[in-house]
Amino acid sequence: MRVGVLALQGAFREHLDLLGRLGVSAVAVRLPEHLAGLSALVLPGGESTTMRKLIDRWGLRDPILDLARAGAPIFGTCAGMILLARDISDGDEPVLPLLDITVKRNAFGRQLDSFEADMAVPVLGTSAVHGVFIRAPVIERVGARVDVLATLDDDRVVAVREGNVLATAFHPELASETRFHRLVATMASAFAEPGEGTSRKRHPTRRAAR
Ligand code: GLN
Repeated sequence: MRVGVLALQGAFREHLDLLGRLGVSAVAVRLPEHLAGLSALVLPGGESTTMRKLIDRWGLRDPILDLARAGAPIFGTCAGMILLARDISDGDEPVLPLLDITVKRNAFGRQLDSFEADMAVPVLGTSAVHGVFIRAPVIERVGARVDVLATLDDDRVVAVREGNVLATAFHPELASETRFHRLVATMASAFAEPGEGTSRKRHPTRRAAR
């Protein structure tokens, strides 16, 4: 089982390192062929405008959508979450609209350009998640099929899941928070080796890779 990290721009190295420390085989994804045979994909933080241009320059949009629609877990952090949003409230076109949410970019203003916060994330256990927010987006609208995983003290939504797609407005990988990546790895192994009673569509590039 291998997990890809989109490595076009931004904080991809930290995700690769963290997955490696968890014993997960992690690969940098720069070209469509790097997606073949992957069981999950992480979209890192960085600059979503730059990333959207590079995704299209290298023809990654459709193969990423295919991987997600085949059921592989996709995890976006910060700019990665912006890429996954169906709606971006400043009018940017969606890139990989896999999450029925509306996000607002750079939502915390100048004074709070960057901050850290502890949040309860019940699906990850009882101890708080420590999140690093860097020019972070916020989730302004959550669709009916989207689960809210974390909110700030003022109830603003900062982490969500819709089926196989997860996103956080913050960077767990910069706070040595490993539980989101563990969850993604667990989902990835279920995708790679579906047990009895589970079914999924096979991704064409996965079959080609065998
Ligand atoms: N502000 C960035 C954007 O809008 C996201 C910041 C981040 O990923 N840390 O793309």
